[in-house]
Amino acid sequence: MVVPRPRPPGLKFKPFGLDISAPWLPRPPKTAPRRLGFTTRELALAERIKRLKKEAGSHSPSAWTLAKLIPELRMKVDACFLSNPYATKLFLMHFHREVIRPRKLRALLELYPSQNRVIATKLGRVLDLEPDSIFVGNGAAEIIQAILHRFTRQKILVNLPTFSPYYEFVRPDTQVVFNFLSKHEEFRFDPGAYLELVRRERPDTVVLINPNNPDGGYVPHAILVELLEELRGVPNVIVDESFIHFACEGNDFAYWSVAEEVERFPNLMVVKSMSKDFGVAGIRAGYAVMAPDRVRALLGNGFLWNSSGLAEYFFDLYSRPDFQERYERERIRFIRNSRRFFAALAQIDGLHVYPTSANFALVELCNGLVAEELVCRLLIRRGIYTRTCDDKKGLETGKFLRIAARNRPENAYIIRSLRRMIG
Ligand SMILES: *Cc1c(COP(=O)(O)O)cnc(C)c1O
Repeated sequence: MVVPRPRPPGLKFKPFGLDISAPWLPRPPKTAPRRLGFTTRELALAERIKRLKKEAGSHSPSAWTLAKLIPELRMKVDACFLSNPYATKLFLMHFHREVIRPRKLRALLELYPSQNRVIATKLGRVLDLEPDSIFVGNGAAEIIQAILHRFTRQKILVNLPTFSPYYEFVRPDTQVVFNFLSKHEEFRFDPGAYLELVRRERPDTVVLINPNNPDGGYVPHAILVELLEELRGVPNVIVDESFIHFACEGNDFAYWSVAEEVERFPNLMVVKSMSKDFGVAGIRAGYAVMAPDRVRALLGNGFLWNSSGLAEYFFDLYSRPDFQERYERERIRFIRNSRRFFAALAQIDGLHVYPTSANFALVELCNGLVAEELVCRLLIRRGIYTRTCDDKKGLETGKFLRIAARNRPENAYIIRSLRRMIG
């Protein structure tokens, strides 16, 4: 088993008081009237929200899109996007100090970023991995698409519920089979049943998101490594660790990646988005770790300058020990707050909160309320943006929503609002 790398302990650190929580959005109203049903105006707004949501397919419209297309909405808290707001703040503090103030933004925008291999080399140093086993992507979504199109052939096995690109981005000639995680078992992943299914279906690609999106379920590191051993015969094994920074085993806040296992398992590809744990989805940064011949095969399809100047700045920052140390404090602070938030959510009557090792919780309504109604209500009356899961395969009962943890005041506001609305 791989020994987790030591992480610095949580020290007190306060970045500048930059308030970056959606500054372009209008301020919320001072007092929201409390009514039981929707008013005519609210009904019209709800219809527009539902329409936008439908048009966005199996993803949610971003806070940007909502604010632009429905300016009457006064969004206050974005609990739909799954990011660490403290990390965004930390990134912005560095960005101001090192790019904006010294007037270096122009170079980031005017010049080409480094080529894929150059950025991979920088990343290799900080991740302590061979650079030729790293593929840098314009967000993990690009990597998922590249992998599915280059390596997946007849059949892919995906757990449900899941992050939809894993079945949506496949080639038209790829068959998708699902492993249903049952809500009666709290969406727990069962390795034995899974291997049974793999033997029966013989997929050439399997996908495990750890922790899983949208339920936050987590497969402990030791079990996952055992599973990889059992999956040696499967040509492509994708492990998506986009939320791994939030998942800790034991009492210290260390997390366990299987990226190092790529050396032992040439069929393994570990996908990592930087969007969520660093709160920088807008700059599109992600990478994957896989056998060097796989990286070469992907690069053969292009991807020369697929990062941006901003993403390269981020990766440079990420490589620095001083940033790592600050980030670690923000990561731990966020995990602590998130745990408190999930515990408070679970106390609210009428909600069932599924166990989560990520920075969001899958919530089921068990008092007759419909998730879409509650999501619209939260957005219209309280400015809280959450996500219904009606469009998620395996969760189409109309009762599920996913709520992301935010900073402490925002979490408290979400709890207060939910209590008022359904408690
Ligand atoms: C959000 C997400 C991604 C994609 O992230 P990018 O913003 O494209 O880097 C990949 N996998 C999972 C599980 C996600 O939730």
